[in-house]
Amino acid sequence: MSRSDTLFEQAKQYIPGGVNSPVRAFKAVGGTPVFVDRAEGAYLYDADGKRYIDYVLSWGPMILGHAHPTITKAVMDKMQKGLSFGTPTEIETTLAAKICDMLPNVDLVRMVNSGTEATMSAIRLARGFTGRDKIIKFEGCYHGHSDSLLVKAGSGALTLGVPSSPGVPEGLAQHTVTLTYNDIEGVRQAFSEIGEQVACIIVEPVAGNMNCVPPIPGFLETLREQCDQYGSLLIIDEVMTGFRLGPQGAQGHYGVKADLTTLGKVIGGGMPVGAFGGRRDVMEQIAPLGPVYQAGTLSGNPIAMAAGLAQMEQITQPGFYEPLFEKTETLVQGLRQRAEKAGIPFTTNHVGSMFGAFFTDVEKVVNFQQAINCNAEHFNHFFHGMLDEGVYLAPASYEAGFMSAAHSDEDIQATLDAAEKIMNSI
Ligand code: PMP
Repeated sequence: MSRSDTLFEQAKQYIPGGVNSPVRAFKAVGGTPVFVDRAEGAYLYDADGKRYIDYVLSWGPMILGHAHPTITKAVMDKMQKGLSFGTPTEIETTLAAKICDMLPNVDLVRMVNSGTEATMSAIRLARGFTGRDKIIKFEGCYHGHSDSLLVKAGSGALTLGVPSSPGVPEGLAQHTVTLTYNDIEGVRQAFSEIGEQVACIIVEPVAGNMNCVPPIPGFLETLREQCDQYGSLLIIDEVMTGFRLGPQGAQGHYGVKADLTTLGKVIGGGMPVGAFGGRRDVMEQIAPLGPVYQAGTLSGNPIAMAAGLAQMEQITQPGFYEPLFEKTETLVQGLRQRAEKAGIPFTTNHVGSMFGAFFTDVEKVVNFQQAINCNAEHFNHFFHGMLDEGVYLAPASYEAGFMSAAHSDEDIQATLDAAEKIMNSI
């Protein structure tokens, strides 16, 4: 019995399912979740001291790798001055200014504690600003677990078979209209019917919660165009893609402009941070400037800001992204080659340092149906085989993978060697 087995048994006595976020429980893949003791660079070390090359990276934030010395030092230095004050602090402005400088579509930004809070607040703001109730989202996109957004959601909600959760009042869910990701005609059709009632569209610019599905050309542009035509706001949820696809996130990558942008993960350096920001006239509707209420006891926490700022300063150095993207390319190409040699139906998607692997004979996965129709048995075999070989992948097939600056060429080669062995055993 591993130490993780023991710890999991203990955890289940006190914590529902033994975990504080559902996908961590390994329910989709079976077996015992890896209890991590520490992490450094590209590696996780479990409670027995076994090392794993990590492609989950705390579900995205750790773009520099784990326990980066600059971030750790920034946190320790800040800690000496007290943990939380509930007053404004200078470092909140420094991080906010950095975000506004980097993202041309963000004039003002409000810090929160999670991606869920960021999207929930952005939705409230869009409704308050437009005076409309309906929102449009896409099936398989996950925007956190607030009521309005837990309708046909992705990620753990999808993995655990509850994309529309019990407990979300019908009266609220009816205001969430769910369309098909990458279905341009479907978007036009919906707007022609209900456009004048739509407060906003919220979209993952690259869907990373139904595996990894990039937008087809024209999809994001159509969202922008329809929002403009009907006076709706476009919320681009960059919780995952922000500062991961490049210095201007997905909006820079695809050249599409949001009215509101939601952020999380990378901007917090591994601490609980989210943010929402955007057009000045919209953001000025937030309290205390305007009537749309939003608040947080620990929002803008100085330790969290210190971690986020330290990470942001590193990743905005010139030349940061190119090697990261090259490594991602090497990994996915290598995986495809190994699968082809092993004769396994398999394909990949990737954008920047985000990637997805699909056990399917579909050549290019572009929508939700294709993403969920993959071979679950092959995935589970691959996941567990890789785990045995010391490679940590997301324990569910509906999640994107991530590359960090700490992954070395040797790490990627070791990953591909492991993949070759496991794919040959399928
Ligand atoms: N939006 C997106 C695109 C996400 O990927 C996530 C989490 N994976 C969230 C929102 C919610 O963020 P959090 O888990 O920090 O609440």
